[in-house]
Amino acid sequence: MSRTTVALLGATGSIGTQTLEVLRREPERFELTAIAGGAARVDQLIAIAKEFSVARIGVPTNEARETVMEALAGVEVVVGDEGLSELASSADTVVNAVVGFAGLPVTLSALRSGKRLALANKESLIAASTLVEKVRHTRGAELVPIDSEHCAIHQALAGASAEAGYPDVRRLILTASGGPFRGWDSTALDTATKAQALAHPTWSMGPKITIDSSTLMNKGLEVLEASALFGIEVGRVEVVIHPQSVVHSMVEYVDGSVIAQLSKPDMRLPIAYCLGLPERLDHAWGALDFHSPLSLEFFPPDRANFPALSIAYEAARIGGGAPAWMSAANEVAVEAFLGERITWRQIVEIVSTTLDRYEPTPIETLSELLEADRRAREIAIASLPK
Ligand code: NDP
Ligand code: MG
Repeated sequence: MSRTTVALLGATGSIGTQTLEVLRREPERFELTAIAGGAARVDQLIAIAKEFSVARIGVPTNEARETVMEALAGVEVVVGDEGLSELASSADTVVNAVVGFAGLPVTLSALRSGKRLALANKESLIAASTLVEKVRHTRGAELVPIDSEHCAIHQALAGASAEAGYPDVRRLILTASGGPFRGWDSTALDTATKAQALAHPTWSMGPKITIDSSTLMNKGLEVLEASALFGIEVGRVEVVIHPQSVVHSMVEYVDGSVIAQLSKPDMRLPIAYCLGLPERLDHAWGALDFHSPLSLEFFPPDRANFPALSIAYEAARIGGGAPAWMSAANEVAVEAFLGERITWRQIVEIVSTTLDRYEPTPIETLSELLEADRRAREIAIASLPK
């Protein structure tokens, strides 16, 4: 049996590293044929290429290209967005583990080329949902979610009617750990530091999504992600706080039945699920031990202290380019917070004020999306302290 070829784009990050762990266990089933990363960890990218004998490598700059070419003989090195698009059309399965809007070329190219897209990069789907809709029906194309909540829903929908819009589903229930600031009051949140925001209680992830989890913007993005992935309007997507991160999400059917997926918080499980479909890979990354006590709690989210959630629903209600604006402003704000230019509170304030200045634009073409992203960033950057 020939092996499934895999392109892993964003190979040096948190999802990338965990995808490599899954691939190491399945050498007979998968062949890693292409990788890409940013400029921060080129040495790590070279090490991955050596370990897996990868022939095609994507980097963001010509300088990084030189470094890779010097270190490795006989490999093809491609650069920038064009390079990412090329690699994303080159394998049977494409794992999009790039962070932020930079992952857009991967999402669009993989689907347009009729590949399986195992999607961790939620930002591209949220910003480009209308463009994704146009290419995801390409013959052979398949969009499967690595994001643990959406992977749980994908599994919980297995028994649902195949009719568009899932008429026998009442609602999707996304679980959220609540992040490091769950239960904090307004006064305490005023003093929230970068180190505290980066200390996630249940998941170890890259810095951007960890900060998004602390503001609940990650859950807001996930509401839009769920709606785009499953074709269910955001009014039927709800969020519940579940501090243990064991129930990864749920589907409530019209008869009141709730189907959930449970495991330890371990991203290798959803990664392996997306790579293996329709088969299950025989290694239980997240298996629970029911011999020891296990308590599961569920609470409504604190929308007053974590307004990002309501902002995300509002962006969905506005539609058009609003989700792209929200996500772009959030990227700018999170970067400024990580660079210690703004306070934790200011992250969501910047997103909110940018969205208030939204200039209605339909997103029917790539150039319209790129312009919306550019404009939102411009406004968000202008609102940063000098
Ligand atoms: P990381 O910051 O750990 O990794 C990001 C990866 O993207 C790195 O390999 C980075 O390269 C690469 N990258 C950055 N910019 C570019 C670029 N311009 N071109 C190519 N590659 C680039 O992030 P995570 O792994 O945490 O997250 C990745 C995505 O997965 C995000 O969209 C996140 O929301 C989503 N996700 C993550 C989860 C997690 O558990 N981590 C869970 C669910 C979703 P370099 O190393 O050089 O910077
Ligand atoms: Mg998630």
